[in-house]
Amino acid sequence: MPKNTKFMEKLHVLDKTFAVSIPEAEILKQVRRVAAEITRDMEGKSPLLLPVLNGSFIFAADLLRQIPIPCEVSFIKLASYQGTQSTGQIREVIGLNTDITGRHIVIVEDIVDSGITMAHMIETLQAQNPASISVCTLLLKPNSLKVEVPVDYCAMQIPSDFIVGYGLDYNGFGRNTKDIYTLVDE
Ligand code: 5GP
Ligand code: MG
Repeated sequence: MPKNTKFMEKLHVLDKTFAVSIPEAEILKQVRRVAAEITRDMEGKSPLLLPVLNGSFIFAADLLRQIPIPCEVSFIKLASYQGTQSTGQIREVIGLNTDITGRHIVIVEDIVDSGITMAHMIETLQAQNPASISVCTLLLKPNSLKVEVPVDYCAMQIPSDFIVGYGLDYNGFGRNTKDIYTLVDE
């Protein structure tokens, strides 16, 4: 089998077709890199990691297992996406039932697109007086940013195209793949 056949692999999710854009090995390499950065910066700080459901569940699972320092994890949830277009609507942060006063917070997000979701989340958490807030994202679309967001840890920067896989969905489907796929016109 030719070595990069995998790059040609197509994935059909509902009415759309996707092609592999970031293979599993590259994802895991970059996840290990950001995990090492967090480990270095958070040593002795007993951080509280807040993965944002649903999209970041696979990223969080891989990331956390590469961070060997004492830390707590609490999943939060919010959603602002319908189909392949951001609705621009921000919903409430739900599920945060831990007191974050004086804590070092690391938000674990799947993707920062316009940045509106993350900016809102930082503002909400800031109101509860944590010691610090850091943002760790699997993916960043630098050309889509509409607001300024301090991204402390970024595994990979990507173009503004719509992607699925490795936890990210298209209308609820396509989360359960090892590679990341980009929407293609067909
Ligand atoms: P933002 O508020 O930064 O525009 O959007 C952030 C959220 O939109 C992300 O957490 C993610 O859930 C969703 N999102 C943004 N771009 C994509 C994408 O390319 N694919 C998928 N599946 N979700 C995306
Ligand atoms: Mg998300």
